[in-house]
Parts: sequence; C-alpha cells; structure tokens
Amino acid sequence: MDTSKQCWRGIILLGGPGSGKGTQAVLLAQKLGIAHISTGDLFRENIRMGTELGKVAKTYIEKGELVPDEVTVRMVRERVNRPDCTNGFILDGFPRTVAQADALNQVLAEMHRSLTAVLNLQVAPDVLLERLSRRWTCKACGAVFPEFSAPPRAGCKKEVCDGELYQRPDDKPETQRHRIEVYREQTAPLEAYYAERGLLVEIDGENSIERVHQLILDAVRCVEEEDRHTV
Ligand code: ADP
Repeated sequence: MDTSKQCWRGIILLGGPGSGKGTQAVLLAQKLGIAHISTGDLFRENIRMGTELGKVAKTYIEKGELVPDEVTVRMVRERVNRPDCTNGFILDGFPRTVAQADALNQVLAEMHRSLTAVLNLQVAPDVLLERLSRRWTCKACGAVFPEFSAPPRAGCKKEVCDGELYQRPDDKPETQRHRIEVYREQTAPLEAYYAERGLLVEIDGENSIERVHQLILDAVRCVEEEDRHTV
C-alpha cells in the first residue's frame, strides 16, 4: 500500500489469551502499513536468544504470570521508538495492566501522539480454552496455527519460513486456565479504563478470521471518520 500520505495510527488490541489478537494484528498491520508489536513475541525472541530480559521473562511466562510492569514497559518504550513505527503501531498484548496503560499514556505524550482506538476482541472463556488447546506456533517466525488438534506433519508454511511447529509451554492445559484468570483480574479492567476515555470498540471475536478482520477494518474507518468530523 502507499504509506507516504497516511496519518499516524496507534491501535491497541485487547482480548484474552487465544482471542485472536496475534492473527488479527498481523493482518491489520499489513493492511495499514504500520508496525505490529507483540510483547509475547518480543519476550519469546529474548528467551530464544538467551538475553538477560529473556531469562527474567521466562520464569513468569512459564507459570502463566505477567512479566513485571517495569521490565515490560522498558521493552515497549524502546520498541515504539524504532524507525518502523514512524506511521504508527498496533500493540498486541500490551498494555495488560492499568499501570502499563498509564505508562503508555506517558510514552505517547512524549511522542506527541495519541491513541486511535482500542479494539476489544470478545471471546467467551470456554471458546478461549478450546482454541488454546489446539494452537500450534512456529518456532522460527512466531506464526500461529489455530486449527490443529495434533502436531501437523509439515513445518510452518507462512511466507518463506519452514520452521518447526510446537505447542507453547504456556498453552498447556495446566497453564491455560491460570492465564485466563490472570486476564480477568489484571487486564479486563482496561476495558473500563479505555471506555471512560472514549477509545474502546467492541469486536465480536467469535466470527471467522476473515470476518473479524473486516469488522476491525470497519471499526478503524468509523473511528477515523468520526475524528475528521470533530476536528
Ligand atoms: P497470548 O497471545 O496468548 O495472549 P502472548 O503471546 O501475548 O499471549 O503473551 C504470552 C505471555 O507473555 C503472557 O502470558 C505473559 O506472561 C507475557 N506477557 C506478554 N505481554 C505482557 C505484558 N504486557 N505484561 C506482562 N507480561 C506479558
């Protein structure tokens, strides 16, 4: 797409583990020509590379707990200031606590930017559990394959990647329920937080991938249309 004339966009995808944030963020980032920032992917990359950050994050992620705010915010602050964020970004998995949302406000203020919209992917807890138990992830590129109940024989076929597919340790049944619980306690309050600020848009995440993508595009267009009328 032609990104030369486009405006800056800052979009947050909210939703429980398995709600489709990652899948939708990839599609939306491609469509809008903005960066996709997944804190889960950033942590996993650091774990793979054996960095200090990765070592800290691993202990929390394996238990289904959140990585401490201070560590996460520092990582996101560095990431949003990279050159590929010039036209904006989609945040997938951040913020996950009210403290992170407050910190993000500060980072955005320093950048003289404000959020475009917060899209809340709504999926019932039993559907989330079912999806997580069938989810396989590419070790090399992080692509998610939601549809398998057993390990697929072939490797990742996204783009040019041929990485090995694996089930994320935190997608195992014993950790799944805990992550959904953590979401309810620590992240769900962000729905009210952003609703109060007039930024929350509800999206029915139980539709097909294509349909959810369309609903998201419609929502972003609608928000931008409203903004044009109020300026
Ligand atoms: P999902 O896509 O299933 O929602 P993610 O890949 O986004 O999961 O995140 C995996 C794990 O990484 C989380 O369970 C948590 O331990 C850690 N994590 C990711 N983002 C954050 C964050 N913003 N704050 C704290 N921990 C995080």
